[in-house]
Amino acid sequence: MDPVTLVIVLAINLVCVGGLFHLIGRGMPPRSGLQHWSAGAVLFGCAYVARLAAGLSNPQAWMLLLDAAMLLAALLFIGGLRRFLGRAAPTATQLAALIVGFLLAQGAMVAAAGQGGRYALLNLALGLAYAVLVIDNLRALSREGRPLRAPLIVLTLVMGLLAALTVVRGVHIAQRGVEVMYRGGFAQAYYVYASLAAVLLGLNLLWMVFVRLHRQLAELASRDALTRVLNRNGLDEVLARHFAARSVQPLTLLQVDIDHFKRINDEHGHAAGDAALHAVAQALARAVRGSDFVARVGGEEFLVGCVGGDAGTAAALAERLRDAVRSLALPTPDGRAPMRCTVSVGISQPCTSRAGWDAAWREADRALYAAKRAGRDRVLSAQPPGAQGASMPA
Ligand code: GH3
Ligand code: MG
Ligand code: MG
Repeated sequence: MDPVTLVIVLAINLVCVGGLFHLIGRGMPPRSGLQHWSAGAVLFGCAYVARLAAGLSNPQAWMLLLDAAMLLAALLFIGGLRRFLGRAAPTATQLAALIVGFLLAQGAMVAAAGQGGRYALLNLALGLAYAVLVIDNLRALSREGRPLRAPLIVLTLVMGLLAALTVVRGVHIAQRGVEVMYRGGFAQAYYVYASLAAVLLGLNLLWMVFVRLHRQLAELASRDALTRVLNRNGLDEVLARHFAARSVQPLTLLQVDIDHFKRINDEHGHAAGDAALHAVAQALARAVRGSDFVARVGGEEFLVGCVGGDAGTAAALAERLRDAVRSLALPTPDGRAPMRCTVSVGISQPCTSRAGWDAAWREADRALYAAKRAGRDRVLSAQPPGAQGASMPA
């Protein structure tokens, strides 16, 4: 296939991918980066077509705007990827400064080395932009979770090769002149790869969006919307995973209930009650170890799973939870002195099987209500009589 046909195929690819991203991006949050990818792809495709229509050696000054459009498109890709990864994208002012700087350099290049120099500089600038995108990817690889790593690696490979080829193409044009732009084996190979890269890039970005949405959906299905700790669904999943392990570690359950929570609602309103629930849940989540879990199992009731360890470990964890909640200063809506609240905790005996789970939960529940009856703000364990441990309010 001759390079001109390949360029047309590449341009059609880019415009279609851009259109698709525009449609998908309309339903996505504003900072998802899709609209930047869309604008970049459409701009790149249109600039290719316009350049082909105007002729490569067209000496008119406005042709430089097409080069600037291609560079802007590459910068939009970088901005879109950074937004997608939750990082700061180049601002409009920074983009404008880069484009003006590039246009001035292009003008000087045309004056000094003619059209060949212009295209050599364009390819070097595009190669550099792709390399920046690859560096952003490599940085993100260490931060992102496992599911997003695979598409990021593919994106790095696709764009890394494109960056290298584009720089080599710039040098090739600088040496041989504008004639080799659309002629010869290298131009053919370059546009075959560029067309393939445009398709792979579009599919890869969709893969990344899919991974992100899948993670968000799983999060929504397993987390309580108000407190962000596990809901019953998430708790079931964690338990299924825990008891499916080859060697099951003992699991001790801590039933945690906020004391006199109704008063917070009555005195400060439901919204303040919601904020207090969120703060307590987050304090509990911060106080547990990485292997433990926190689930909201009722209005103001939480179930904490203490994985491994003995009765002493669970009792120490319960005290940590109690202290974490006691030290919270919850803001009041009218700006008066912050509210304080306490929790009562009931501890089960360790269980090692799914079958023993229900009994353990009932034990933790009974111990909790014993703690409530004993005056609240304390920890009680469902231990055999005589071995029972309790902590009293400080
Ligand atoms: P105790 O010390 O015996 O546990 O007293 P309590 O007031 O905490 O317990 P009770 O069961 O009497 O009241 C629980 C309250 O929790 C009543 C309910 O309105 C409130 N509640 C439950 N879910 C939510 C919620 O999502 N948001 C808010 N703001 N309040 C909630
Ligand atoms: Mg309560
Ligand atoms: Mg309750």
